Amino acid sequence: MYRGGDVSEGQNGAGLSGADGIGSGAERQGQVDTWARVKRRLRAELGEDVYTSWFARLEIDAVADGCARLTVPTRFLKSWIEAHYVDRVLSIYRAEDASVERIGLGVRGAGPREPATSPARKADEGAPARPEPMAAAALLQRPADADREPGDLSGAPLDTRLTFRTFVSGRSNALALAAAERIARNEGGALYNPLYLHAGVGLGKTHLLHAIGHEVREAGRRAIYLTADRFMYGFVASLKAQTAHTFKERLRGIDLLVVDDVQFIQGRTIQQEFGHTLNALIDAGRQVVVAADRPPAELESLDERVRSRLAGGLVVEVGALDEQLRVSILTTRIQAVQAAHPTFEVSPAVVSYVARSVTANGRDLEGAVNRLLAHATLTGAPVTLETAESAIRDLVRNREPKRVKIEDIQKLVASRYNVSRSDILSERRTAAVVRPRQIAMYLSKVLTLRSLPEIGRRFGGRDHTTVLHAVRKIEKALGEDNALSEEVELLKRMLQD
Ligand code: ADP
Ligand code: MG
Repeated sequence: MYRGGDVSEGQNGAGLSGADGIGSGAERQGQVDTWARVKRRLRAELGEDVYTSWFARLEIDAVADGCARLTVPTRFLKSWIEAHYVDRVLSIYRAEDASVERIGLGVRGAGPREPATSPARKADEGAPARPEPMAAAALLQRPADADREPGDLSGAPLDTRLTFRTFVSGRSNALALAAAERIARNEGGALYNPLYLHAGVGLGKTHLLHAIGHEVREAGRRAIYLTADRFMYGFVASLKAQTAHTFKERLRGIDLLVVDDVQFIQGRTIQQEFGHTLNALIDAGRQVVVAADRPPAELESLDERVRSRLAGGLVVEVGALDEQLRVSILTTRIQAVQAAHPTFEVSPAVVSYVARSVTANGRDLEGAVNRLLAHATLTGAPVTLETAESAIRDLVRNREPKRVKIEDIQKLVASRYNVSRSDILSERRTAAVVRPRQIAMYLSKVLTLRSLPEIGRRFGGRDHTTVLHAVRKIEKALGEDNALSEEVELLKRMLQD
């Protein structure tokens, strides 16, 4: 019986089939073959470990106009590869196909909120997923609400919900919040200019930027909030309309410029222009605030002078949301929802369950509250632990498709740090073993529902206080060490995939 045996054929080439008009079948086949060779080279040159961690799920989408468009399943992988490997990938690719001049990385199936190169705005939330625009296209793509004259700089709209009042402070964001407030009150001075906020996705950067924007405008000063795509679009559009000088003039005639997601600013002319704008504003004593998903030094695509200008003010990292902060954010969101739905009640037990299950970022927390609300309004029943579990199940499953086992955590961590699983379970106290052991304990706490004593037992019969100590230690280190927090984030993704 025919069972569609070739349905899954050619994972590698899957994305190419629908590529928009890029030539004949033979040409496509050639690209698929090239891609297979590129992957083999990547594996050979980078080693099995690195390859499996980062490149196993890298796929090709299309090759066109000198750009090899590749995709990965998560934003995290995308930014990691961009930050650490993109040059390597390019040179390997070029060794197989010299016509390739650029690599474009995208996230497969990402909604318009996380496109490859043009971050969309809040207003897009909830829009259906679509393949994201890639580098070249994004530059010229019109942001959905950009139906204005070229060079218009009223900026992107500010979301009225994103204010200082609704921003919950915690250990991981206290410094960023304090700096943002000072700037909003015009107390920053040159020391804070520019203010550069960086953090992973969903940790409150955009929220803080909008909050600053609101407050500055309320004080009657002129603030412009631009996303990187709007900066690029505005510039490209005004160049086309030959009003670039108007664009620049207007941009420079303001009190505060906020540019969100600057990691996406690309293209030589636009980068130069971004640099000139920064210089002009800062030299004139106007405040600039930018946000990015990485520190200035890692903005590889930006010109060195622009990078150092960006790093020349105050650079603040916003850390991951710890459980306590997640509880506070949930509570605040629930209270906000209660204003419109007075009968909506969520017990502390449910809040704590959600805070433990939905760990990734503020966006998912918000999504979880919306689900609880939908559930409560649809069924008219109070939210219990059981209803909460089913209400957020798909959210949790989306992010955490698999129940993580302590044993898997131990195996993965062991292999990642080149120790054996029995080392992790052993009494050995050398640094090479202690750190991985603590990370494994931390991951066991955050990824499973096991209690501390249970985790202790599974780690060679240790006491629960030892586990607690490890968890605290890693939590603290995550707040201070960006590389570690990326590493741990990766381990989480790998365990949850
Ligand atoms: P980023 O720009 O860093 O990706 P956002 O600012 O868009 O993240 O935050 C994602 C969501 O999480 C938003 O709805 C935001 O309001 C919420 N959020 C994040 N951090 C906080 C916080 N500290 N307090 C309240 N809400 C937060
Ligand atoms: Mg943002």
